[in-house]
Amino acid sequence: MPHVITQSCCNDGSCVFACPVNCIHPSPDEPGFATTEMLYIDPAACVDCGACVSACPVGAIAPDNRLENKQLPFVEINAAFYPERPADVKLPPTSKLAPVIPAAEVHARRWPLTVAIVGSGPAAMYAADELLTQHGVRVNVFEKLPTPYGLVRAGVAPDHQNTKKVTQLFDRVSRHRHFRFYLNVEVGKHLSHAELLAHHHAVLYAVGAPDDRRLDIDGMGLPGTGTATEHVAWINGHPDFYDLPVDLSHERVVIIGNGNVALDVARVLTADPEGLARTDISDRALAALRNSAVREVVIAARRSPADSAFTLPELIGLTGASDVVLEPGVRDLVARDLATASDTLTRNKLKILSELGDASVPGPRPRIRLAYQLTPARVLGEQRATGVEFSITGTEDMHRIDAGLVLTSIGYRGKPIRDLPFDESTSVVPNDGGRVVEPGSGRPVTGAYVAGWIKRGPTGFIGTNKSCSFQTVQALVADYNAGTLTDPVTKPDGLDQFVHARQPHVVDSAGWAAIDAAEIARGIDDGRPRNKFADVADMLAAAATAPPAPKRRLLARLLG
Ligand code: NAP
Repeated sequence: MPHVITQSCCNDGSCVFACPVNCIHPSPDEPGFATTEMLYIDPAACVDCGACVSACPVGAIAPDNRLENKQLPFVEINAAFYPERPADVKLPPTSKLAPVIPAAEVHARRWPLTVAIVGSGPAAMYAADELLTQHGVRVNVFEKLPTPYGLVRAGVAPDHQNTKKVTQLFDRVSRHRHFRFYLNVEVGKHLSHAELLAHHHAVLYAVGAPDDRRLDIDGMGLPGTGTATEHVAWINGHPDFYDLPVDLSHERVVIIGNGNVALDVARVLTADPEGLARTDISDRALAALRNSAVREVVIAARRSPADSAFTLPELIGLTGASDVVLEPGVRDLVARDLATASDTLTRNKLKILSELGDASVPGPRPRIRLAYQLTPARVLGEQRATGVEFSITGTEDMHRIDAGLVLTSIGYRGKPIRDLPFDESTSVVPNDGGRVVEPGSGRPVTGAYVAGWIKRGPTGFIGTNKSCSFQTVQALVADYNAGTLTDPVTKPDGLDQFVHARQPHVVDSAGWAAIDAAEIARGIDDGRPRNKFADVADMLAAAATAPPAPKRRLLARLLG
């Protein structure tokens, strides 16, 4: 009864260090870790202790006899990662120890290490977690929305509630007594980088990649065109996208690009809205989906099936949840690729594709059509989008697909941070292992650090940020210990006063707890995990119901 890692694997590697027999790979110190789509349990070595289940922040691991039917393919996928060997040959039982950051030398200096983290998504929270493993270190997290957790709240699809469970880990981090939230505070608007740095030893930016890569073809920008990432934000009730005009009155949507974001949007647009009604989807998106006329979402990739950008776990999840069919002609491309593909991962993806039905047979419910070898040439339509014209990749032949909504899903894009260098070609802040550096000289910018997508570009999974943030924190602590960082100008209370003077509506941990509780309460009657506020004014009203800080401090003293 070995354990099995399934679709929602976040790759943060917590399971690797919890495992007493070293049966989960690739581990963070192994070469394949940075690029692997998921981690795998070796069924011959697993001793079935369940330690990995407790360590996994997203509920991705289960014993093989407790899997749902749609998870059964993961038994074979986990096993296939390991070479075949006789069942009685086990790997040596060596456990891996999590790498440890050198301790910040708190007593040798006047100030304990005090770090501002900008952004509150996974990279930010994993960095806070690493920093707070050390005695005395203080972490202040600044976030421009009144709610934390970045793309986990506003980017992970609402039907992936398991993945959103990672917020329980982040909640635990934020309850540390040396952690503070400064939510609803925008660095670059309310505070400058220099001001923030003056109050901390270091400022670590984990602001993600908030923009989209744009497709430069005629017709993009017409009504009825947009990006998948802004639609994900609309689906998730992000305040900046709540009012996005989304017209679902047409039968077909085309999504250009076939990464996991394209799969997320296609799955939600074709899902039964009554299933989504039990998630934390935005009310407005749910109402639009209930009235949707969409019968088909075409996901159009410019290359071949073997080059699909989506991951195997997400393809398995998609085919388990939705009706997925192949564009005419794709079956031949899949067969051709299967004949030459050598790596197991690609072969597994192609095998799943080869078992899908054809688009020529109409289905009873909205469906997803996978198309390949289509390079977008222009969006059709005068007043609004009516379809897309593609060239068939590598030829002069053209192919048109009618659609009322055309979305590009060609990746996220980082944007410059005021007062820091920026590399326009890669859309990241130039850095050396997380230390921000001047582009010409390579000299470190004292006190400035980056982690997550703004450091390495928009790739990987939630847990990929754990090792990314670890590397940055390692550099930061080494710099602190080397004495290159300047002590803050004020004590923590001084920072509080300074921030309040600039942004009187700052939301602290108690304010967030009040928003969180109100959202959960709003969802209870409908059987939803929460019903999110999508309006900042509503969030602030909920935050205002938290007892004021002096009263909380008094209560804490009275309660001992
Ligand atoms: P992505 O995986 O980088 O996929 C981008 C897609 O856009 C590819 O199909 C790419 O095709 C295509 N593309 C790029 N430029 C194009 C152009 N000019 N014309 C046509 N197509 C073009 O991006 P993503 O889907 O935004 O995902 C970002 C990251 O988040 C990924 O690491 C993803 O795995 C992760 N993510 C994970 C999950 C999950 O685990 N559930 C969910 C969402 C996102 P080519 O390959 O031909 O360049």
